[in-house]
Amino acid sequence: MSERFTGSFTQQEPIPEDGIAAALAVLRSGRLHRYNLAAGEIGETALLEQEFAQATGARYCLAVASGGYALGCALRALGAGPGVTVLTNAFTLAPVPGAIAAVGATPDFVEVTEDLVIDLDHLAARIAETRAPILMLSHMRGHICDMAALMRLCDAEGVTVIEDCAHTMGADWDGTPTGRWGRIGAFSTQTYKHMNSGEGGLLITDDAELAARMVLLSGSYMLYERHGAAPAPEVFERLKLDVPNVSGRMDHLRAAILRPQLARLAEQARRWNARYRVLEEGLKDTPGLTLIRRPAREGFVASSFQFRLAGWANDAISEVVARAAARGVELKWFGADHPAGFTSRYAHWRYAAPPRLPRTDAVLAGLLDMRLPLTFSLEDCAQIARILRAEVGAVWQARATA
Ligand SMILES: *Cc1c(COP(=O)(O)O)cnc(C)c1O
Repeated sequence: MSERFTGSFTQQEPIPEDGIAAALAVLRSGRLHRYNLAAGEIGETALLEQEFAQATGARYCLAVASGGYALGCALRALGAGPGVTVLTNAFTLAPVPGAIAAVGATPDFVEVTEDLVIDLDHLAARIAETRAPILMLSHMRGHICDMAALMRLCDAEGVTVIEDCAHTMGADWDGTPTGRWGRIGAFSTQTYKHMNSGEGGLLITDDAELAARMVLLSGSYMLYERHGAAPAPEVFERLKLDVPNVSGRMDHLRAAILRPQLARLAEQARRWNARYRVLEEGLKDTPGLTLIRRPAREGFVASSFQFRLAGWANDAISEVVARAAARGVELKWFGADHPAGFTSRYAHWRYAAPPRLPRTDAVLAGLLDMRLPLTFSLEDCAQIARILRAEVGAVWQARATA
């Protein structure tokens, strides 16, 4: 009899008890709005900003309502709007081109490599063709490109980089945290990311004027002195009458449950990566299955797992997905014809009039993806690998002998 996995791919760990206690204290105080403070109180939101700035080494940090809001706020602060082209990855999730479209700018998509990172040659070609002033770089599914090479290219061409770090909180390239290579780093604390406040986002930058613009944009009601990691008031004085209020603040309740999670982030990253390595080990040398290369300089945090069935026919991949599902293993396929769950792919963003990107099409056609919640034990991961190995093998064998 074949084994069946019974865990849930969408079940996260509970909020740590100290986070629950902090949240209850906020509820009991009645002061949930970030600017609602007792005399002398700093507030959970400002404290979170201070701590996240410190954790990433950034000078400034702003907590906001969601990761998508953070991306939009960064774009607005940089002046992106109608008539401006913003380069981004063809392999990313819908909120990224959505943020570009929301400010009225035009997304222009860059191909993905077989390592699931942005194709730097195609990026150079798109910069030359479009003269786009901004790249919104998405570290999609936690895969980080050669950031030194990317920054060399963008700096030489005068392209400002916003990093979408929704899948790389706690990760680094060559020792420098993601979000610290570009001008602005944007993070999400939505339930399926590396810290969970239901919804939420964080922005970091070393640029005082951009930081002030983002604070004003987020809806600071001129109370910017109540921030935890914001520039000096003089910077705001110059800008405050020119920057519109596009409300998207974080509240104390979310900040209260995030602070204890931030303190545990490095430990959680180790736990994620231990699970990733078990899956990788269990799937290596599976005929027909290609693992994703992880460079030594990539300090990833693996909250999900990808592999490729490169060159496989669509119906064979569908069969693997169905057979894995029948044994409790939920795979998402980026090559599916219609958007399902989070597998949205660039061709489905019709509002952005995407061109055909043949290399991306070829990679996504064989790309499978799986969440890796920390509620899975190492043995769970070993079992998932056994099931996938067996089902990929069965379909591969049947096709080879047909
Ligand atoms: C989740 C996600 C976002 C946006 O985060 P939300 O908090 O859900 O708005 C941005 N980029 C990527 C790649 C994501 O997965």
